[in-house]
Amino acid sequence: MSDPTLNARIPSGPLAQKWSKHKQDSKLINPANKRKFTVLVVGSGLAGASAAATLSELGYKVKCFCFHDSPRRAHSIAAQGGINAAKNYQNDGDSVYRLFYDTIKGGDFRAREANVYRLAEVSANIIDQCVAQGVPLAREYGGLLANRSFGGAQVSRTFYARGQTGQQLLLGAYSALSKEIARGNVQMYNRTEMLELVLVDGHAKGIVVRNLVTGEVTSHSGDAVILATGGYGNAFFLSTNAMTCNVTAAWRAHKKGAYFANPCYTQIHPTCIPVSGDYQSKLTLMSESLRNDGRVWVPMNAADCDKRASDIPEEARDYFLERKYPSFGNLAPRDISSRSAKEACDEGRGVGPGKLGVYLDFADAILRYGKDKAGGRELSNEELYKLGQPVVAEKYGNLFEMYERITGENAYEQPMRIYPAVHYTMGGLWVDYNLMSNVPGLHVLGEANFSDHGANRLGASALMQGLADGYFVIPYTIANYLASQKPGSVTTSHPAFAQAVEEVSARTHRFLNIKGKRSVDSLHRELGLLLWEKCGMARSREGLMEALKRIPELREEFWNNLHIPGSNAQFNQELEKAGRVADFMEFGELMCRDALEREESCGGHFRVEHQYTREDEDAKRGQAGEALRNDEKFAYVAAWGYSGDVSKPELHKEPLEYEEVHLAVRSYV
Ligand SMILES: Cc1cc2nc3c(=O)[nH]c(=O)nc-3n(C[C@H](O)[C@H](O)[C@H](O)COP(=O)(O)OP(=O)(O)OC[C@H]3O[C@@H](n4cnc5c(N)ncnc54)[C@H](O)[C@@H]3O)c2cc1C
Repeated sequence: MSDPTLNARIPSGPLAQKWSKHKQDSKLINPANKRKFTVLVVGSGLAGASAAATLSELGYKVKCFCFHDSPRRAHSIAAQGGINAAKNYQNDGDSVYRLFYDTIKGGDFRAREANVYRLAEVSANIIDQCVAQGVPLAREYGGLLANRSFGGAQVSRTFYARGQTGQQLLLGAYSALSKEIARGNVQMYNRTEMLELVLVDGHAKGIVVRNLVTGEVTSHSGDAVILATGGYGNAFFLSTNAMTCNVTAAWRAHKKGAYFANPCYTQIHPTCIPVSGDYQSKLTLMSESLRNDGRVWVPMNAADCDKRASDIPEEARDYFLERKYPSFGNLAPRDISSRSAKEACDEGRGVGPGKLGVYLDFADAILRYGKDKAGGRELSNEELYKLGQPVVAEKYGNLFEMYERITGENAYEQPMRIYPAVHYTMGGLWVDYNLMSNVPGLHVLGEANFSDHGANRLGASALMQGLADGYFVIPYTIANYLASQKPGSVTTSHPAFAQAVEEVSARTHRFLNIKGKRSVDSLHRELGLLLWEKCGMARSREGLMEALKRIPELREEFWNNLHIPGSNAQFNQELEKAGRVADFMEFGELMCRDALEREESCGGHFRVEHQYTREDEDAKRGQAGEALRNDEKFAYVAAWGYSGDVSKPELHKEPLEYEEVHLAVRSYV
């Protein structure tokens, strides 16, 4: 039976018509009235900037907050590889349905069908919108927009701007936002961190923020609140996320009643530069687009691992993705590719320092492009290599440069070394079809919500989702809430605001007065390592139980032995971090509890107890070792409520009812 507190508000009717029907049935607010409503948007990455700009263009008054010195610095800027859209420019069989199906299958059948279909449907509009803004997406020689392939798809549907797609898209959204700021309809608050959500009569009506430069704590009221605050991958300390990514806004909203959905669904990306030492605080992604041309391999025999790659002959190499997944090859989805790399390293066949690395090799691609350029001329391999290298440089030059700057190795001459790392979080605050959480008025967009990627996100689909949410979904759906509200009915003079300000000030005071011995980073590192080991690429009941015992101890240590230098009334990054890590210390426990509760494997959530074995008759050829779902018991969204005790969250379940898709064993063989 479905949970009465979780109404997903999925429109009735055929899947392909739900969104059109919903738009038709949605409430409207006339232009004169829109001006009277204020919407608070927290976050100015792709999801937040696109939402703030579009809502303002529609006429709503918008206040937008971000903790960066400029909206342009949101983590979205880091996105390298591309953005999917079902345009079928390649005439290779793509369609809205295929993008929808690939995303549902890629998410291991743990996403909400109606949301994913809508995402696929609006994907094409995003590209038109961005081109109209002047985003310099790559083009073919004849001027048409170019595409490349990403994991989990057999068509080329990824639009890109070299290896800087996120940056270019963000500049587009930022331009739209800047126009509205200049018009005076968006008030932008940079270097301002939201630290509390304010509820009035159970509705989200405001936020409390801290000015990161002066330490001043203030509050803002609005008719609705939008959180577009990104993902929480940094719970693991080491990840490919920007250093400031965190869970604070979502977690504080959770503690005010918003359900946190599927917190254990973390994406581990297969192509990152391997960890090189204890001093590291950040990992670097090598874009998945590199797998269009790079071949992943390890030596067949552990004895060869110390040899130079070029000294290992072809017949002694194991191109393990091509071997295991012949139809998708090096473009197998991220969860599957990551686990395969881990498996090879666990067998002792890893390469590089610590043997935690596999090769990503471009030699074949360079020769292939060289042959194309040679136009039938008989040339030596060396000459072909010289001709092919600029082609690869044209496509991925900045990524090769970045790799060389970090590792000191030239990836045109020897293969890159890569290893999986935490990259994205599919979990997030629970939202309905309108992108509203279970707290009326609180809407959540982009990576901060849980909505579209199930248990594993396919490459190039986060940018798509963030921009779909901001440009095309929330502008329609927010009216369904606002139309029931009297504009401006709540102001900051309501006592709930003073109380929330007091909570924030008291917490800050507490951090500064612990006066212990450990830095925030040292405690964060310890938590992160624990989460990586017990709730990372592979999870077991035993390991999760250990983590659940250890995290409260670590939290205790945090609150008793933390040292924060400086004061509140100054720019104090240690103080900022303390707030974020305090939340990770609580949130990490919820991640582990969710992973423990989900007694199945699906997508990025791999419970070692639940995998296909060679003996499974219904497992397809080559399925041994793959994630084994349990649809009968776990085809639901786990939405956790706060009970007042972080160690005793309440589980609510939204059953995943598939009207169109048949649940199948996920196979990329
Ligand atoms: C290295 C890397 C490469 C990637 N490449 C791709 C790719 O090629 N294609 C793809 O589809 N996806 C990619 N992704 C994923 C994608 O970039 C992100 O999922 C997406 O950009 C998130 O956008 P967002 O708007 O939801 O959040 P973000 O861009 O993270 O923005 C969050 C915003 O919230 C603000 N904020 C957060 N908390 C607070 C607070 N408490 N108070 C005030 N402000 C707050 C921040 O200041 C920021 O403005 C990549 C991710 C990484 C790490």
